[in-house]
Amino acid sequence: MLVRFWGTRGSLPVAQRPPVIRGKLVRALMAAQGLRFADEAEAAAFVDAQLDFATRATYGGATACVEVEGGGEAFLVCDMGSGLREFGLDAFRRCAQGHARTYHFFLSHLHWDHIMGFPFFGPAFDPGATIVVHAGHPDAEQALRRQQEEISFPVPFDWLRARFEFITHAPGEGFEVDGVTVTLAQQHHSHDSYGYRFERNGRSVVYSTDSEHKLDDMRGEQAFEGFFAGADLVIVDTMYSLGDTVSLKQDWGHSSNVVAVDLCLAAGARRLALFHHEPTYSDEDISRMHEETIRYEELVRDDRPPLEVICAYDGLEVGV
Ligand SMILES: [Zn+2]
Ligand SMILES: [Zn+2]
Repeated sequence: MLVRFWGTRGSLPVAQRPPVIRGKLVRALMAAQGLRFADEAEAAAFVDAQLDFATRATYGGATACVEVEGGGEAFLVCDMGSGLREFGLDAFRRCAQGHARTYHFFLSHLHWDHIMGFPFFGPAFDPGATIVVHAGHPDAEQALRRQQEEISFPVPFDWLRARFEFITHAPGEGFEVDGVTVTLAQQHHSHDSYGYRFERNGRSVVYSTDSEHKLDDMRGEQAFEGFFAGADLVIVDTMYSLGDTVSLKQDWGHSSNVVAVDLCLAAGARRLALFHHEPTYSDEDISRMHEETIRYEELVRDDRPPLEVICAYDGLEVGV
């Protein structure tokens, strides 16, 4: 399987403001120390090899949207955050090359940051497209229709031309989509949220965002160890550092990098992707959290197999 991140920010889309770009340029020039480059390719090679991620790039600012390429014919997409617009443009390009125009969406929940990209999803206007929305929430269709009511948006849902199907699934009950086995788990979040586990040919990806893990609820956490068990990649909402979670932001419905590592290690998962980044965090803040998470994993691992910690950014592709 291949996982492609189209949107990795939580709560609200963000863009890098001019002083931030300026700061990156200043740091890059300082790192170059007056070096001369024969052409742009040589300069690009320096950027790739010598500059850290927060200087040469950005984690991006689109909200949650993650594609899982399962090797079948259809598109499989988790959530419809603002990253969905970019995915829709790329899907048009791939459909022009012969890709099937069938889209399966898996909605974690219906908060705005997870559905706000849908009114800008071009393929919804394609009369030859089929869009199947899988959700744990029976009110998923209502949420999508409501955000396109006249008071909020100029194009009503009924103007969309694709063929729609909404399917509500019960937690724990597995189902097949395009050759991939999918299972839901209910998560602790305002109005509930659902995690999805995708399995094909012995490989597995878990998408678990907007889930608050209670440090004092051992039974609930054991259920998640089962859901994450042996997964090749677990994508977890790590919006806050543990200090914030315990002191300020308890019951805000999100999780921390520390809890994510604990759960993934206990579950024997192979790789953890930090996801749903806090919108006020700079690229440097997110990089620092990534480094701290790697160090924390090394400290608490003991004799368990290592857990690789990666940090999701808009545009990242991960082979599973
Ligand atoms: Zn969210
Ligand atoms: Zn939410």
